[in-house]
Amino acid sequence: MKVRHVLGISGGKDSAALAIYMKDHYPHLDIEYYTCDTGKELDETYQLIKNLEVYLGKSITRIQAAQSSNEVPFDHFLEMYGGYLPSSSSRWCTKKLKLEPFEKFVGNDLVISYVGIRGDEDREGYISKKTTIQSIFPFRKNIWSEDVINKLLGNVDSDIIMSLYKQLEKNERSQRFQEILSQQISFGYTQNQKLNQLLDCDTLKFNQLVFSFLKTTDYPIAKIDDFPLIENDDVLVRDDIFNILENSGVGIPEYYKKIPFNINGKESHYSRSRSGCFFCFYQQKIEWVWLYEQHPDLYLQAMEYEKDGYAWNQEETLADLIKPERIKRIKEEYIKRTSRKAQKSNSPFLVDILSDAESEGCASCFI
Ligand code: SF4
Repeated sequence: MKVRHVLGISGGKDSAALAIYMKDHYPHLDIEYYTCDTGKELDETYQLIKNLEVYLGKSITRIQAAQSSNEVPFDHFLEMYGGYLPSSSSRWCTKKLKLEPFEKFVGNDLVISYVGIRGDEDREGYISKKTTIQSIFPFRKNIWSEDVINKLLGNVDSDIIMSLYKQLEKNERSQRFQEILSQQISFGYTQNQKLNQLLDCDTLKFNQLVFSFLKTTDYPIAKIDDFPLIENDDVLVRDDIFNILENSGVGIPEYYKKIPFNINGKESHYSRSRSGCFFCFYQQKIEWVWLYEQHPDLYLQAMEYEKDGYAWNQEETLADLIKPERIKRIKEEYIKRTSRKAQKSNSPFLVDILSDAESEGCASCFI
């Protein structure tokens, strides 16, 4: 059965860099690129997708939820939810606009999905509950998903795993690798410790072991003869991502670029820290101000969604947020906060300065 290789472009920097990386390093993999369009992305995101298509030399499939609707996907589902705006505690938007359309796009095909979580991040990407979809993380030292690692390193199948290892390394066995592998997980020795020790000991050997283990399962990877990523021990961090985007000519998404502002005689800069819908409730106050000042038409559209008691932020409406005194205070607080953090970060990007911004949010929308 044919296994499909897919890579979702969220409009953010990491998935864009991953698409470039995969084309450059694995040109023989026939990767299908797709993007789930909510209909409410920034123009900068659409531009990034166009730039990527030029670089990749193939088109990126636009997947849209509710295709037969007369409305754009977000508005269609908002109406279905009776005007109830999504929030971090009720994130129907990701499910309806990203995950379900993606699962429809791949159907019941066996799929390897490449995800751009970086080596310096501590979060898992979206892992489908469908057993026909397997996620791979090429930027991390551990390219495998959590469910695979749980099966491989848990104590239940340890004898099977050890015998697989012995078959794999008939002649030259690494004593250290074998010792780590034989150690049982316990309160004093976690699965993560074991994983990291094995990767540090020999990443390629570890990947070969995982691959031969997966061959005994129903994971999509079991159906392919060769998987070139098991020979990969690259670890890519944030700076690498910006370098890939710049060196390829695709460029950094425009919304990341800093724009100067002045408040009370103090100079500072702002930008947006992430891709996704222009009204995304995950954005920080300064990003709302950025939206109001840089894209006032979009801000007004976001305001129009606030009715019948629903609002994007719990503490204040968008109408209150743009009162001159409030904007001034948001900017002052932002300057205070960033000047403390900027001493630790040389990066010009808001996403780096507000380092908590990136970890919060949706792995489908912001990779
Ligand atoms: S970007 Fe934000 S609002 Fe849009 S689908 Fe993702 S989580 Fe929902």
